[in-house]
Amino acid sequence: MDAELVTIGTELLLGFTLDTNSAFLGQRLGGIGVRLTRRSTVPDELEPIRSAIVEGLDRTRLVIVSGGLGPTHDDVTKRVVGELFQVPLEFSAAIWDELVGRFARLGRVLSERNRCQAEVPRGAHVLPNPRGTAPGLWLTGEAGEAILLPGVPGEFRGLVDEQVVPRLRERSRNRVVRSMVIRTTGIAESALADRLASIEPQLAPLTLASLPGLAGVDLRLTAWDLLPEEAQPLLERQAERIRTVTGDHAYGADEDDLAAVFLAECRRAGVRVGVAESCTGGMLGERITEIPGSSEVFAGGVIAYANSVKEELGVPARILDQYGAVSQEAALEMARALQRRFSVDLAIAITGVAGPGGGSEAKPVGLVWFGFADRKNAVARRVVFPGSRHDIRARACQFALWQAWLRVRAGEGETERRS
Ligand code: AMP
Ligand code: MG
Repeated sequence: MDAELVTIGTELLLGFTLDTNSAFLGQRLGGIGVRLTRRSTVPDELEPIRSAIVEGLDRTRLVIVSGGLGPTHDDVTKRVVGELFQVPLEFSAAIWDELVGRFARLGRVLSERNRCQAEVPRGAHVLPNPRGTAPGLWLTGEAGEAILLPGVPGEFRGLVDEQVVPRLRERSRNRVVRSMVIRTTGIAESALADRLASIEPQLAPLTLASLPGLAGVDLRLTAWDLLPEEAQPLLERQAERIRTVTGDHAYGADEDDLAAVFLAECRRAGVRVGVAESCTGGMLGERITEIPGSSEVFAGGVIAYANSVKEELGVPARILDQYGAVSQEAALEMARALQRRFSVDLAIAITGVAGPGGGSEAKPVGLVWFGFADRKNAVARRVVFPGSRHDIRARACQFALWQAWLRVRAGEGETERRS
């Protein structure tokens, strides 16, 4: 079953109010197998509201409308829809009395202005709204069905969950639209697409979306219009197939945070971690300590921003003079120095050019060197990240966590301590 959503509000178009109702409805309808095929946002004006609803009804015969049910002159949804369904607005004494009574219990007097909120297009089913003064309305006619809901987010959500979802669920015969996200990092969207090309035809009837962000590329697999007991195993089987081609780049599912995945691996392996951060200025430590229980694994770190602090940490001045602070040698020495100082099993060092200034041909903005030192060895990695200063710093933290996770998973950093 398909449906469309029309959100009404000039403030939504001006960008002063974020359209959170749309996201909420999309998720709820997905959960009951109703495909939201289009959303339109229109100003508080008769003609745009009318045409958006008419066009939506033409396409899907089911339109959900958010907003414009208030008591002010710009709240015209009911009038428009009444005309569309060719029914007059009628005053409902039952709704009015209920409102008056509710206000009286709160010691308040209802304004005459609210009388219009007790007007109902003839034949509409009234959806009680205990959180506000405008009830929801469900109209059925030759054109299809229109479900009118107040725009106030708390009221909208309450009516969706209590009145709309239960009725639509019955009709969709318990079908669901269900998604699963496979989170990847350290690989560009295009390179990922190349790897997925060979298996993509076999994913049907599931669909696959690629969603790039600072943490990496999320792959969203979606099952449409299936019973939950059919959707879940299908999603799991196909997610497994995707993981075989994404390999080390896939670190988790759905909302998984790489920092949490990394810490869990450290806990399993008994690895204690420390960080030496230059261009990320504590961001990596923040990512790690954001995770509850990080103290079991995380010793601490040093923000070695100025060269003098890098030296104090234990990086030889001659290394900084000869190779510069953003260099393979500096990253390695930062990691080694921190590992010795804190006696951790794995030290992670980051030094780079976050920009926007300070880049050169040899060391462009976005260049970051990473050092990883365990009790025996140290290795360095070099990456040039795209984006703003914030993006570069965030991507550098994610990359550091990814490499550190792979090292711990492979058993690096625990050999000596265990032997
Ligand atoms: P209305 O029902 O149009 O009078 O809207 C009442 C309140 O809800 C206003 O403060 C709007 O800014 C807010 N609102 C309306 N539509 C939305 C929406 N789609 N998402 C979030 N808030 C909304
Ligand atoms: Mg409004």
